[in-house]
Amino acid sequence: MLFGEIAEYYSRLEATQSRIEMVGLLRDMFSRMDEEEIAKMVYMTQGVLGPPFESLQVGIAEKLAEDAIAEAAGYEKRDVVAAFRKTGDLGTAAEELSGKKRSRLLSYSKLSGMHVFDTMMSIAKASGEGSKETKIKGMVSLLSSASPLEARYIVRFALGTLRLGAGDATIMEALALMATGDRANKDKLERAYNVCGDLGRVARTLVAMGMGGIENFKAGVFSPIKPALAERLPTSEEILERMGGRCAVESKYDGLRAQVHFSRKEGRVEIFSRNLERITEMFPDISEAFFNEVSANECIVEGEVIAYDEVAGTFRPFQETIQRKRKHDIDEKSRQIPVKLFLFDVMYLDGSECLEMPYRERRRLLEKIIKGGRVIEAADRIIASSPKELDSYFEHNVESGLEGIVAKGIDSVYVAGARRFSWIKLKRSYKGELSDTVDLVIIGYYRGKGSRTEFGLGGLLCAVYNDATDLFESITKIGTGFTEHQMEDLWGRCKDISRKAKPARVLSQLEPDFWVEPKYVIEVRADEITRSPTHMCGREGGSEEGYALRFPRIVSEGIREDKSAEDATTTAEIVSMYAEQKRTKVKD
Ligand code: ATP
Repeated sequence: MLFGEIAEYYSRLEATQSRIEMVGLLRDMFSRMDEEEIAKMVYMTQGVLGPPFESLQVGIAEKLAEDAIAEAAGYEKRDVVAAFRKTGDLGTAAEELSGKKRSRLLSYSKLSGMHVFDTMMSIAKASGEGSKETKIKGMVSLLSSASPLEARYIVRFALGTLRLGAGDATIMEALALMATGDRANKDKLERAYNVCGDLGRVARTLVAMGMGGIENFKAGVFSPIKPALAERLPTSEEILERMGGRCAVESKYDGLRAQVHFSRKEGRVEIFSRNLERITEMFPDISEAFFNEVSANECIVEGEVIAYDEVAGTFRPFQETIQRKRKHDIDEKSRQIPVKLFLFDVMYLDGSECLEMPYRERRRLLEKIIKGGRVIEAADRIIASSPKELDSYFEHNVESGLEGIVAKGIDSVYVAGARRFSWIKLKRSYKGELSDTVDLVIIGYYRGKGSRTEFGLGGLLCAVYNDATDLFESITKIGTGFTEHQMEDLWGRCKDISRKAKPARVLSQLEPDFWVEPKYVIEVRADEITRSPTHMCGREGGSEEGYALRFPRIVSEGIREDKSAEDATTTAEIVSMYAEQKRTKVKD
């Protein structure tokens, strides 16, 4: 497909405020692509070069893009900088200058979508000496043949600022409509996506093999699986009731979730984070331990990595575990902050997918392959059949410095990518407040007043994610509780992705000073959930009242780097937390 046609679709996607229209546009666009094109064009529409675990970024800096735009359009760099200042977006600046090209190449040649993608890929892969020149050359070659509209999207894609607002669920709905005429088939695509974490691969399979190919999708090593998530309930009685009177109960370690893929034959270990990014380099000690402390030849297992004080035999705070994120002195850090990996699940073992096996069978296999050693252990667990047993195990864990417990249904399957009651978490509770924090998406911000003006941030407008409708619904404004450092950091981040118009998937009656593309997730504590006519959370079916948070404040870690916008707390969770809160109040 010609890139010019794709750019036309992109400009319409960008302009629409309706999600339904967005789905229709994407369906039309994808229908025109063949098996070869579709995977790459799905990534491009997501603004990336591949699935998250391949960590591919075009990596063009603004300065370099300015040089390329100047050269391709035949202008001085200062002209580009001036246009950038005026428009606030380098893509629009490129479009403007490209419309009045002074360079020799005045006619636009026909770029294909594939050619643009492949050139971006070679730019991303250029490294070492001479890579800067290679990158500029690649950009100049694209921009010289691009029409003004194409130039807008080439530059934004290269800078990582494409942001068309189409999330994974919107894209899947469009693909389901395209292939079957029925948007409900999105669920089948979602299952396949949850199993391989790669939307491009799902799209390619769909075009090549139809729905049959999608239904036969199986997990395999080195394709990360979307993690199963836990529901929450406030008491051991309710947990047991929900679990049918008996369940497994595991320690809840407060570290970093890790999904490890291991192949002894290939001599390869890969570690993926909660949002499927590759974090292998952070934990060389874990990779090494797999060859000695695990007996499987090939497996996908999951657990929690946590910093551990070997002398005192105690767990270290979460902040110490994530210090391993600093890439430069990892060997030094491995010595200073040893970690342990507590495995709690196995999803694939020596040629067989285990997702559909009951928990007790998966746990048996997991214990069988853990040989024991300094780094890898099975998560501690008991089987409980009374609230008393569950409570005393919970207390024991909290006293050992852990966060609480996760109860698991003995016969439950592994539900990739979904929050179900087969896992229920119970954390140390916070008296007088909501028993858990919530994760909210920033959808807008307000200008600062008075002494805060220097940071430009007066408050944030936040939303939860409605996974049934794929929309972000406003739930609260947060104006207090930020440290100066947080304010500066949040303002910088929000400013970079601010928009004049409300993004298509956002529902809010309140108008912030600036809208923000839903991207950043913050952890928030509040006193309670209230009904409110102001916010849009939970207003389905024309209800006049939504849900809101009372006295919300950001918790110290601030931005949750391990969550994307769609991983935020959902509307359904807020509704059930509200019902829970009401019941507890009645009991009091
Ligand atoms: P969620 O992952 O449910 O969205 P969250 O990321 O805020 O929420 P928590 O509320 O702390 O995390 O609870 C779930 C997390 O607990 C898991 O993602 C996992 O990282 C961690 N965890 C620790 N121990 C276990 C265990 N034994 N079984 C499952 N998860 C565990």
